[in-house]
This record gives sequence, structure tokens and C-alpha cells, in this order.
Amino acid sequence: MTQPEAISLPFRVGDVLWMPLAESRQVTIPCPICAGKRVVRVELGDGDLVTVDCDGCGLGFSGPQGTITEREHDPKVERFEIAEPVSLYGGEWQVRSTTGAEHELKDLYPTEAEAFAVAAKRSAQQTEHNMMSRARRKKGLSKTAWTVRYHRERIRDAERELAWHRARLHDKWGSHDDAA
Ligand SMILES: [Zn+2]
Repeated sequence: MTQPEAISLPFRVGDVLWMPLAESRQVTIPCPICAGKRVVRVELGDGDLVTVDCDGCGLGFSGPQGTITEREHDPKVERFEIAEPVSLYGGEWQVRSTTGAEHELKDLYPTEAEAFAVAAKRSAQQTEHNMMSRARRKKGLSKTAWTVRYHRERIRDAERELAWHRARLHDKWGSHDDAA
């Protein structure tokens, strides 16, 4: 039977490494679509301007809020002095620090600068993710524009039809009434 002592550790207790972290916080910012006005003016193809509820901040039951909530991650690093190994799973070591934090050894870096570069890269990815969800909100706006255009076209068609029926009624019965 293999003795635990036979496993050679790729680190030493007391090694000081650096852990990349992202300090997550929720931020509320003005809606990027309506800039807090809760409504947007949509210009239709014929140049008409209509005001509609903002879709960008209008998700949910309470209607447009004028703000959106995002998670932002500020990069930071923390000193990690290895106190003991925790586990070895799939070839990856999990270690515990002198402050009780647990982390994967492969995500610990020998210098503060290296760890910070990794943390900064992750924060940038989060920023990119936020920008992508803003772009998705903007797609919601074009849906609004389309919906407005659709309803206005239906109204115009209905008005034309109504006008046609009125004209027919007048042609057929109007002259008859006059004759009588
Ligand atoms: Zn909005």
C-alpha cells in the first residue's frame, strides 16, 4: 500500500503565492437606451416620431425603470501563504492558506503582477459580457420600432377600408335617398 509520504508535492508549506480575485459589486446605471427617461422616441420610415416605453429597462412587470443593474468586477489580488494541501483531484491540487482560504494551486501565481494580470483579464471579460447584454437590449428596441410600425400600418389599412365602405355606401344608397 502506498504511503501518503510517497506523493511528492509540487509546492512547500510556507510558499507564498498570489491569488487573482475579482471584487464583485452590483451597480445601477442609467439605462443605455433611454438614458433614464423611461421612454424612447422612435422615428418611423415616413419621418413620424412616436414615443414608446423603453424596452431596454422595461423588462419585468413594473415597466421601464430608467436604470439597469449590472455586476462589475474590480480586479484585485490576495497574498496566499500555503498552510496545507487540501485535496488532489484529477491531477489538480487544492490548497489552504494560513488565513483559511482554499484555492486551486494552478490558479495561484508566484508574483503579485502575474496574479493581477489574470484578475484584470477576467474583469475585462465581465465588462465585455455587460456590453453584450446591452447590445441585446438594443435589439429589443428594434422590435419596438417594428411593433409600432406594424400597428400603425394596420390602423392605416383599417382606415382605408372604412373610407372605402363609407364611399360605397354613399354611392349606392346616398343617391337613392336623394331621389326619394
Ligand atoms: Zn430605458
